Amino acid sequence: MPSTERYRDEQRGVWRWRGRYYDAAGRRRSRTFDTKAAAARWAGKQEDKAKRGRRTDDRAAKLTWGEWCDRWFAAKAGEPTTRRTDTSIIRAHVRPRWGSTPVYLIERIDVQAWVNQIARDRSASTTRKAFYALSGSMRTLVAEGVLDANPCTGVVLPTNPVGQERFLTDVEAGQILYHLDGRWRVLAEFALGTGLRMAEVAGLHVARVDLEAGRVYVIETYDAVEGEMKGYPKSKRRREVPLSPELAALLQSHLDLDPPPPRSCGKPHRAGRCPGGLLFRGELGAPIDSHNFGSRQWKTAAELAGFYVERRDPKRRKLADGSPKTVRDLTVHPHDLRHTYASRLVQQGIPLERVQLLLGHEDIKTTQRYAHLIPDDGWDEVRAALSTSVTAARAEAAESARRAAANGPMGGPDPMSNLTVPDRPARRLRAVRQRSDQPKQATG
Ligand SMILES: [Zn+2]
Repeated sequence: MPSTERYRDEQRGVWRWRGRYYDAAGRRRSRTFDTKAAAARWAGKQEDKAKRGRRTDDRAAKLTWGEWCDRWFAAKAGEPTTRRTDTSIIRAHVRPRWGSTPVYLIERIDVQAWVNQIARDRSASTTRKAFYALSGSMRTLVAEGVLDANPCTGVVLPTNPVGQERFLTDVEAGQILYHLDGRWRVLAEFALGTGLRMAEVAGLHVARVDLEAGRVYVIETYDAVEGEMKGYPKSKRRREVPLSPELAALLQSHLDLDPPPPRSCGKPHRAGRCPGGLLFRGELGAPIDSHNFGSRQWKTAAELAGFYVERRDPKRRKLADGSPKTVRDLTVHPHDLRHTYASRLVQQGIPLERVQLLLGHEDIKTTQRYAHLIPDDGWDEVRAALSTSVTAARAEAAESARRAAANGPMGGPDPMSNLTVPDRPARRLRAVRQRSDQPKQATG
């Protein structure tokens, strides 16, 4: 509460008034005035300002981000898969930095430094997820009236690299398929031929596949961690994708060899009714766990085909001499089959808008990752213009050479005479070179 106090100014021999208030950090501040009204007005105004600054009530002074995160996360809506990702991101990146920090002390500049720190070691996507977890929790603090402003506003985030998706050439795809047998081979060919997400492949019921019409209806997805069928794919919109005649024939022989149980897939459905057995099942008849597929059958096939890099893992000191064990990182993943599907379509000239519908992207921006593969890039005119000018320049160079040769090395002007470089530009060039070398050495 702002207050006023009367006191005697001995130097000037008069009575004066002191106005007092508490600032955002709880420190007492004061200033002197000639009248009580002026002191009260000033103190009231300052305290208002301090409150509007960061902290609107006493709760904020005691509340740490970690405590708030627990309450916020418990109340937050979301799908199980999203919640699991959020939980692990918060544990790895957000809580270690902000867990014990009082929420009113979280400042934009520190949030920015934290974002930059994560972005140095981790992907743009992980960095963004960590930031959104912090930002989302801070936003609710504003909505609850605990804070007046979100310190995450205006923080600059790293962007996802464009056109960095790994996609396989036909030869590369063939090399991996060669090392997959039976149902796993059919599954990989199906993912490559339809672009479905792995969770959609695992949740695909036979009743959703129309082999005669050459259509697949993407309606259920399988959540392997929860062990249940979700009623809609990620974009919340059902979609249909075409099947090529070759793929339809392959699926027919797959079904003939291993017919699914007709009644049910055996897993609970979160929405809708189970329309029967699944197209793909593991050896024991359970739905495919796409994570296990990636770390077992797919991993073996990709390694046999040579799609890996080796590195020493300092966390695994298992060799006899104590040196780190070598681990293999795959350079292709099951999800790359979806990228490959998309890139094939774009390269064949299918418009991005159609590719977006086939992939089930909510936002065309996601599909635009493949835009650099469009065969007609609209630059043919630019190429023609460059070609004209380079032809003219070469003709001129040839003509100059011919003239110089005609004049002869002894007679006529020296052809090298116009190449003398004046002093000053040469020095400047050296200076520029030195300067541009320095940052390279620094980053080494
Ligand atoms: Zn089912």
